[in-house]
Amino acid sequence: MVYSTHFDFAALIITVIAYIYFKCEKTIQSRQNKVFAVLIWMAFISNVSDLISIYGIANPGAFPNWFDFFINELYLISFESAGVVYLAYTIYLTKDSSMTVLDGVRLHFPYFIVCIMVASTNATKMIFYFDESGVYHHGKLFNILYICALYYMISALVQALIYFKKLTANQFLTVFFFDLSLLVAIVVQMCFEGLLIIQFMMAISVLIIYLSLENPENYMNKLIDTYNDRAFVEVFRTYAQSDKKFGILGIEIDGFKDINENLGVIAGNELMKELATFLKGTAGKKAVFHMAGAQFVIMSAEPYMEWDEIINRISERFKENFSCMNSEIALDVYMCYMTYPKIVGRMEDAIDMMEYSFAKSKETGTNNVVYASGDTITQGKRNKRILTALKEAIEGDGFEVVYQPLYSIKEGRFTEAEALVRLKNTRIGFVGPKEFIPLAEKNGMIVEIGEIVFEQVCRFYKENNLEKLGIESIHVNISVVECMEQKLYERIKSLMDKYGLEYNRITLEIKEDVAVASSEVLIENMQKLINDGFRISMDDFGIGLSSISTIIVYPFDEVKIDKSVIWAAVKNNKALIALRHNIAMFKDLNLKVVAEGIEDDNQSKLVKELGCDYCQGYYYSKPVTGEEFINLI
Ligand code: C2E
Ligand code: CA
Ligand code: CA
Repeated sequence: MVYSTHFDFAALIITVIAYIYFKCEKTIQSRQNKVFAVLIWMAFISNVSDLISIYGIANPGAFPNWFDFFINELYLISFESAGVVYLAYTIYLTKDSSMTVLDGVRLHFPYFIVCIMVASTNATKMIFYFDESGVYHHGKLFNILYICALYYMISALVQALIYFKKLTANQFLTVFFFDLSLLVAIVVQMCFEGLLIIQFMMAISVLIIYLSLENPENYMNKLIDTYNDRAFVEVFRTYAQSDKKFGILGIEIDGFKDINENLGVIAGNELMKELATFLKGTAGKKAVFHMAGAQFVIMSAEPYMEWDEIINRISERFKENFSCMNSEIALDVYMCYMTYPKIVGRMEDAIDMMEYSFAKSKETGTNNVVYASGDTITQGKRNKRILTALKEAIEGDGFEVVYQPLYSIKEGRFTEAEALVRLKNTRIGFVGPKEFIPLAEKNGMIVEIGEIVFEQVCRFYKENNLEKLGIESIHVNISVVECMEQKLYERIKSLMDKYGLEYNRITLEIKEDVAVASSEVLIENMQKLINDGFRISMDDFGIGLSSISTIIVYPFDEVKIDKSVIWAAVKNNKALIALRHNIAMFKDLNLKVVAEGIEDDNQSKLVKELGCDYCQGYYYSKPVTGEEFINLI
C-alpha cells in the first residue's frame, strides 16, 4: 500500500498555525475553550504520529519494532481521542449544566472499547500487526476504528440538532461543517485507503472552529480593551460549572449620555477607555467585563480578592472629576455586590439584581453601593414578575377599572367618582397600583396603561349614560410620565371625541409632586386641556414639598387633600390649624376642595365643618366595580 502524505503535511501546517494564534492571543478561561485546546493537541499528535508511522510502514526496519508498534498505537488512540473531545466540545456548547451520567457513558464507552482493542492488538492482531518480515497489515477489525470515529461525528451532529435552539447560527454552522466534512473524509479514507485525507479535514475544521467560535476577539471589546458581555456569560458558566464560589460586582456609570450629546461620541469613547483602564488597574485585567453602555462587571473567583477595598477605591475615584477633551466631568457610579452561589444562584438572577439595584439607587439617589441580600433578590424577582404580568395585561385584557365615589357635601349625594386601576388575576396574587404604577412609570408602560384606563372610563361613562344618573365627572389619575408627554393632550382629546363625551366629564388628577418636578410641557398640556373644558385636580396635597407655590404656578381647578393630612388634623391641634388655613386659602383662590381617606364619622364631620366640597373614603364607599357603582348610585 502506498500512502500519500501530502495532505498530512498541509494539515500539520494548518494545525500549528491555529495553535500559535490560539496561544498568543489572551482569551477567557471557558469550558469550551479548554476543551478546544485539547482538541488542537489531539489533532496535532495524531497528525505527527500518523506521519511518523507512515514513514515506518514505508521503510520497514527503519525504527525498532517496539517503536513502530508504539507510534501506530499512539496515532490510532489520539485519532479516536479527537472524536471524543469533539463530542465533549459539542455537548458543552449545547448545555448549560454539567454533563449527565448518560453523557459520560456515550462519551467514553466506545472509546474505552476501542482503546482496549488497540492496546491488545499485539496479541490479538485484530486492529493491525506486523508480519515476520516487518511489513504492516490492517487487522480484521481495523474498520471498527472508522466506525467508532463515525459514531462520534454522528453523535455530535445529533446533539447539535437536538439542541438546535441553544446554538447561535454561527455555532450551528461551524459544528455542522466540522461533522459533515469529517464524515465525508472518514468514508473516503475507508474506501481509498491510501488517500490520507482525515487529518487534513480535521485541521481545516479546527481552524474554522478557531476563527468562528474560539477567536479571542469574540470575547473582547476592542475599543476599550476589556472582555465583553459574551465573555461574562462564558466565564460565569465556567465558574458555576466547576462549583466555584465567586464574587460579582455590577457597576453602572451615570452621566454618559450627556457626554456623548455635549462633547461627541469620540470624547465619550475616550472617557470609556479611561474608565476601563481604571477598573482594570483596580481589579485586574482578567476580572473586568464591559457589559453594555456604561455598565461593567467585575467578577472573580480569586479567594483573596479584596472586594471591600475595590469598592472603596471605585467610590473614592468617582468623588473626583474625570478629565476628557479639556473638560472636567463629574460622573456618578452605582455598584451592586453579590456572591455566587450564596446570594445569586443563576446568571439571569445576577443580571436582574444589578438592573434592579441600579434603578433603585438612582431613584433614591442615596445608596451608591448595594450589597445584595436574600431580601433584595426577592424584591428584584417580584418586580420582574410584576413587569411580566403588566406586559401580559397590556396585551390581553388584563386591567380592570374600579370606581370610588366622591360625596358632594352641597348636594348630599355622590356626584363624581375616581377611577382606580386594578391588575386582574395575576399568577403572583394581588398586586396593588401602589406597587405596580411606579414600576410601570419607570418602564414607560404607564403610557399604555393610562390609555387603557382612560378608554375604559370613557366607555363606561357613555354606555351607562352616567350623566343621566347624576354623575357629573369621573376622575382619572395621570402619572408623571404621561404629563411630560408632548402628545398627552391629543391622545386624551381624541379618545373623548371617539366616545362623543363632553370634555368636562373627565377630571384629571395630577399628583402634587409631579407638578413640582415637571416643566413647560406640563403647563402647556394643562393650559390646552383647561381651554377645552377639562378639569384638573391636584392630587395628594400635603405630602410633598412647596405645595402652595405649585398651586399658584399651575392652573388647577381643584385640590385633593391627602388622607394623612386629614387624619393628622383629627388628632393634632397644630395640624388642624394648618389645614383650616389651607382650606380657607383654597376657597379664596376659587378652588374646589376634596378630602380624601375619610374613614369615620369624626373625620367626615370635621371636613364638612372646615368647608370641603367633596368627601372620598371608605366611610362613604370603598372602590367598587363598575356594576356595583351603578347600583350604588
Ligand atoms: P390615589 O390617587 O391617592 O388614590 C387613592 C387611594 O386611596 C386608592 O388606593 C384608594 O383605594 C385609597 N383610599 C380611598 N379611600 C381610602 C380610605 O378611606 N382609607 C384608606 N386607607 N385608603 C383609601 P389605590 O386604589 O390602591 O391606588 C393607589 C394609588 O395608585 C393611587 O393613589 C394612584 O396614585 C395610583 N393609581 C391608581 N389607579 C391609577 C391609574 O389609573 N393611573 C395612575 N397613573 N395611577 C393610578
Ligand atoms: Ca388620585
Ligand atoms: Ca390621592
